[in-house]
Amino acid sequence: MSCDGVSGGALKEELNEQQVKELLSEVRHQTSLHWNFRRLKSLPRELLEECSHIEQMYLKCNLLMNLPNNLGCLSHLTYCHLNGNNLQCLPDSIGEMVSLQVLDVGNNKLKALPLTLSKLPSLRSLVAVYNQITCFPAELCCLQSLSLLMLSGNSLLHLPEAISGLTGLQGLYIDHNLLRELPRSLAALPILTRISCCCNHLTHLPAVAFISRPKFFFDNNSGINYLPFSLVRQLRSGETWNPVVMQTSGCFQDSAVVNNTVYISLSRPVKSGNSHWLVLPPQINTVTTSLSGSAKLPPLKEICLRSIWSGKQRSRNGTWHITNGINVGLLPSSLCVILEIGPVAYCETPGCEMPIFTHTSIIVVTISLSAKLYMEGSLVPTVMYFCCDSCAKQYTQSIQKMVDEFSLWLRGRLECACSIELV
Ligand SMILES: [Zn+2]
Repeated sequence: MSCDGVSGGALKEELNEQQVKELLSEVRHQTSLHWNFRRLKSLPRELLEECSHIEQMYLKCNLLMNLPNNLGCLSHLTYCHLNGNNLQCLPDSIGEMVSLQVLDVGNNKLKALPLTLSKLPSLRSLVAVYNQITCFPAELCCLQSLSLLMLSGNSLLHLPEAISGLTGLQGLYIDHNLLRELPRSLAALPILTRISCCCNHLTHLPAVAFISRPKFFFDNNSGINYLPFSLVRQLRSGETWNPVVMQTSGCFQDSAVVNNTVYISLSRPVKSGNSHWLVLPPQINTVTTSLSGSAKLPPLKEICLRSIWSGKQRSRNGTWHITNGINVGLLPSSLCVILEIGPVAYCETPGCEMPIFTHTSIIVVTISLSAKLYMEGSLVPTVMYFCCDSCAKQYTQSIQKMVDEFSLWLRGRLECACSIELV
C-alpha cells in the first residue's frame, strides 16, 4: 500500500530555523536519535539529508501524522520506535532500511502494513499493537528472522496459513482482534514458545499437535467450549495439567455437552444464539461416530485427498508437488485449495495418523481440568479425531490394553464418552 508522505518542509510551519538547527545538532555526531515526547508533527527534511548515519531512532509519543516518503534513506537504521503517534500509514521506502531489526509502530492509526516490509531480511521484532489493521499480509510471511510479532488490539479477521513461513517466530501476540480461527500452520512453527490470542472470537483451536509445544493463552474467547484432544495431550505433563502452558479463563462458559449429548452443527454460520453446539473446523463437511451405529466409510473425495496427500512434498520455495504419479494440473481447484491448507487433524489411533481433511469420525470425552486452570470441577468436552469409524473403535478397545501412564489416565474418562447428535 502506498502512502502519501510529506516533505520535510512542513516542519518549518511548526518549528523555526533555529529550533531545527538545535534538533539536528543533537544527532549530527550521534548514532542515536532521542526525540520522544517532543510534540513533533513532522520530521525535518534536513534529518534525512544530513543524518543518514543514524542507527537508532526514538520518536515515541509525538504527534506525527505522516513520515517522509524518502524515510528509507536512513539505511543504517536498526531500531525504529514510532509508538504513540498519529500515523495513518507507513512509506513504502521503509523496505529500503535493510538494516532494520526492530520496528515499533504500536498505538498509531495504521490501517495496513506496507508489503515492502518483506524486504527487511534482519527484521526480528515487529510491534504494531493497537492500530486499525485488518489483515496481516501473506507477503510478509517470508520474514524468517522475525522472532516477535505483536499485533494485539487491531481488527484482524484472519491470519494467513502462510504464517508458517515465519520460521524464526518465537512470540505471537494477537490478543483483542476479531479472529474466528487460528491458522493450523501455526503448529508447524519450529521454535514458537508463546501464542497469546485472548479476547478474540475463536470457536475452536487447531486440532493438530504443535511441534514446539508453545505456551498457549486463549482467555476470553467465549465461543470456545471444547478442546481438541491433540492439544490436551500436549498440555498434560504426567498426571497433572501444566498450568503455565495454558490459560483458559472465560472459555467453556457454555458446555457443548447437554444431558450427556453433544450437539454438532455442520451448518454455517453457526447461530450465535445456540452456543451449546460444538463447532468443528469449517473444513469438516461430514462426521460420523462409531458410537452411533454401524461403521461408515469416508466419502470418496476424502479418500482421494488422503491418497494425494501421501505423495505430497513441499519444495524449498514453498510450493508443493506430488510424487505418486498424479498430475497436479488435472486436479480440480477445489481439491488444490484443501491440499494447500493441509489436514484439519490426524487420526488419533497410534500407527494410523491418517490426515483428515473434510470427513472425520469423532469421539467426545469430557475431561476435568484442574483448579490451577481456573476450572475447578469443570468438565470440558474434548474431541478426538479419527480417520474412520473402525479406527475410532480400535482406539477405544486398544486403550483398555495399553499400560502407559497417559492411557491409564484416559481409560476412566473414555467411559464417560457422550453420545453425539448432528444438528
Ligand atoms: Zn485412522
